[in-house]
Amino acid sequence: MKVTKFGGSSVANATQIKKVFKIINSDPERQIVIVSAPGKRHAEDTKTTDLLIRLYEKVCANLDYTAKKNEILQRYGDIIAELGMSDALLSTMDDTLEYYIETYRDKHNRLLDALLSCGEDFSAQLIASYNQSQGIPTLYVSPKEAGIMVTDLPQNAQIIDEAYEKIYQLNDYEEKLIIPGFFGYSRSNHIVTFPRGGSDITGAIIARGVRAELYENFTDVSGIFRANPTVIKHPEIIKEVTYREMRELSYAGFGVFHDEALQPLYKDRIPVVIKNTNAPEDPGTLIQHDREINKENVICGISCDKGFTVISVKKYLMNKQVGFIKKILAIFEDYDISFDHMPSGIDNVSFIMRTSAIKGKEKFVLNAIQKKCDVDELYIDDNLAILMIVGEGMYSTIGTANCITHALAKDQINLKMINQGSSEISMMFGIDLEDADKAVIATYQYCFSSKC
Ligand code: ASP
Repeated sequence: MKVTKFGGSSVANATQIKKVFKIINSDPERQIVIVSAPGKRHAEDTKTTDLLIRLYEKVCANLDYTAKKNEILQRYGDIIAELGMSDALLSTMDDTLEYYIETYRDKHNRLLDALLSCGEDFSAQLIASYNQSQGIPTLYVSPKEAGIMVTDLPQNAQIIDEAYEKIYQLNDYEEKLIIPGFFGYSRSNHIVTFPRGGSDITGAIIARGVRAELYENFTDVSGIFRANPTVIKHPEIIKEVTYREMRELSYAGFGVFHDEALQPLYKDRIPVVIKNTNAPEDPGTLIQHDREINKENVICGISCDKGFTVISVKKYLMNKQVGFIKKILAIFEDYDISFDHMPSGIDNVSFIMRTSAIKGKEKFVLNAIQKKCDVDELYIDDNLAILMIVGEGMYSTIGTANCITHALAKDQINLKMINQGSSEISMMFGIDLEDADKAVIATYQYCFSSKC
């Protein structure tokens, strides 16, 4: 059995929903379907989820929210009308929004999650009802009925392990099941959403829970590109990528598949395929536990993410001090800052973090380090981009680092830092922000045109 998830662009309007209908019903193994909220219909459009956030803001500010609410209902109303369905569903949607606004007006975090959940919930009800109206036995199943029990952290839900037992029972249904993505229920019966883009996570949880053979993730591209298509013209599509490679690529900016969605799949080795709703016959990208390595696919992708900050510390005889790093880490903990990398030498150490993690706290952190660690030199640089070259094949191939550094040097790109994890699955380079795109272009040519 397959679990099939459709992202926001796949359910953005009636035309897209008809494509979804065809895809679902063209394969009897597509038994369980997860849907997102309607996404953008064109570049300037607003996602329904963002409209719901605007509605939330109006309610919180005690302003008249009618226009915002109507804008949301209009999105669904247009789809309903174009699909020739009855608009009874529309008044249920209106009632639901009003009910949440009334119930949670003074509990802002609860209100936000409840309103956010409506995007996917309405989508699922609508698609289930359309499928049913076309003569296909179909049921809408709410996340509560499906057993998606999560922790009670608003906008940051995590699945609770016991939930999987209940989810397995979804195997008992004969009908096609349509389940909204993006949220679950806490033990105390509150709606709690996953982080943004979290319908992928719902799909992964359900796929693991029912022990699906395959998790299909339909979006608007025919797979995962080897590099950012806004930087590289027509990059190749990756045919196969491992979970570990995918995790590294998404860390540095590959956004096609939510990184938290890999975790449930990884545990039970459920493969995922990223496919295109607009070209469902394209093979897509398969994400799985292992892949066949050959000379042509040593590296699977190149990503480069901007927005990093580095704090560098120098202290003579640092290597002989006991507890030096611990003092710095304690300062990060005090200021609630998580860091990502810590390259070090004998008398120096750098901490690399997302700029957003330290924003506004820089001065306090530097003062605290200076005071508690009596360092010789201390500086901060927020002009850092991280280039990641990812590929399982690097482990057993000689000369990849040589090839990449050569490509970067040839294009005059200064390397501020190099880090290769012990797994040898990725190589990471700290470079100037201004060099980010140049570095992707330089390395792409080498990695994927048999120059390496
Ligand atoms: N609708 C949610 C968002 O826009 C979740 C999703 O589409 O995956 O973030």
